[in-house]
Amino acid sequence: MTSEPAIRELLRLDAAHVWHPYGPMPATVPPLLVEEASGVRLRLADGRELVDGMSSWWAAIHGYRNPVLDAALAEQASRMSHVMFGGLTHEPAIRLATTLVDLTPEGLEHVFLCDSGSVSVEVALKMCLQYWRSLGRRDKVRMLTWRGGYHGDTFHPMSVCDPEGGMHALWRGVLPEQLFVPTPPSGFGTPVDESYVDTLVRAVEEHADELAAVVVEPVVQGAGGMRFHNPAYLRVLREVTREHDVLLVFDEIATGFGRTGALFAADHAGVAPDVLCVGKALTGGYLTMAATLCTRRVADGISRGEVPVLAHGPTFMGNPLAAAVANASLDLLSEGTWRDEVRRVERKLREGLAPAAAVPGVVDVRVLGAIGVLQLDHAVDLAVATEELTSRGVWLRPFRDLIYTMPPYITSDADLELVTEAMVDTAKVA
Ligand SMILES: *Cc1c(COP(=O)(O)O)cnc(C)c1O
Repeated sequence: MTSEPAIRELLRLDAAHVWHPYGPMPATVPPLLVEEASGVRLRLADGRELVDGMSSWWAAIHGYRNPVLDAALAEQASRMSHVMFGGLTHEPAIRLATTLVDLTPEGLEHVFLCDSGSVSVEVALKMCLQYWRSLGRRDKVRMLTWRGGYHGDTFHPMSVCDPEGGMHALWRGVLPEQLFVPTPPSGFGTPVDESYVDTLVRAVEEHADELAAVVVEPVVQGAGGMRFHNPAYLRVLREVTREHDVLLVFDEIATGFGRTGALFAADHAGVAPDVLCVGKALTGGYLTMAATLCTRRVADGISRGEVPVLAHGPTFMGNPLAAAVANASLDLLSEGTWRDEVRRVERKLREGLAPAAAVPGVVDVRVLGAIGVLQLDHAVDLAVATEELTSRGVWLRPFRDLIYTMPPYITSDADLELVTEAMVDTAKVA
């Protein structure tokens, strides 16, 4: 625990100097000072404990201070924290790339390690653009996506984010203008809407000559609105892109590594993209690392082009600490218990959130895998919601009209009850 005056001083310095995500300087709602985290609990400097229903932006799937991940990190730190990746290589990165190729859908054979999710989307888009350039198709420079997506905060990824959520109006003249089709019809299990299938097919057919790639989040649109859709639309995209010579990119940064109940969301549809982005849970939430995987066709196209190199190379590419923790996290996943855990979390979220359907102002309650969402008919008052949640010992970060949880897979039934009860009651007051 930290003394009251020391906490006040740290928060004063925070407000003076530290810019927090998606906010003005200083933040409108002052952040909470965290001192330690263990299991699913954050310990605040003032001694309070909060059950983390966010997994630190969906990444800490095995919880904090996981003994296996801690040991892997310490062991790697005792050998080598980092070396440049140009001209050098190392076992943690080699093992990681090999495991990713094994686990991800068929055909993805080559792995570019990145330092964040946004960068992995940048690399994915660069791969697609360069592939067509290398083949002499300089007209294929646009991306097509559906509305409601989120792909990161750097500029090219922003261009494929939802135009409203991504603030495209603010960036008109700066962002490349991509092609958008409507958001897919809501619901993982809702029947396929044939007119939406037509919309997808026609958009790709009509624009095939200028399209480098179709870029989507499969099955779950995360930060763009926590919406689920029928995996059948992914099969439609796979067929129509193959038929019309357009590449297909799946951004599984949010959905990868079991979150939706399948190891990868693409597995729900049984399709493989040409390019795949993973991140967030890759290192179990310990360190920043992401990866872009591609097929032999994409890699060969680039490597035989007029400029036969992929000109990208982050300073901390392939970081051994991050790679070692990622390997440990993937080892944990390969034990297979995540499947039962996610199924249990899904059942508890369904049970716990069901009463919210009767709360005035709640327009939708949806659960898929270890994702639980309450959608309201109004924007959540973040200050009121945070006060309500933290007073009950729960950490969540609602946004727009959504109160949602993406808890660590290891969260106990009792802690899931605490989280879901707090969500239902927060819906009543916020
Ligand atoms: C979080 C996220 C990103 C961006 O990843 P960062 O590591 O925050 O740069 C991209 N795409 C999706 C689907 C995400 O959820």
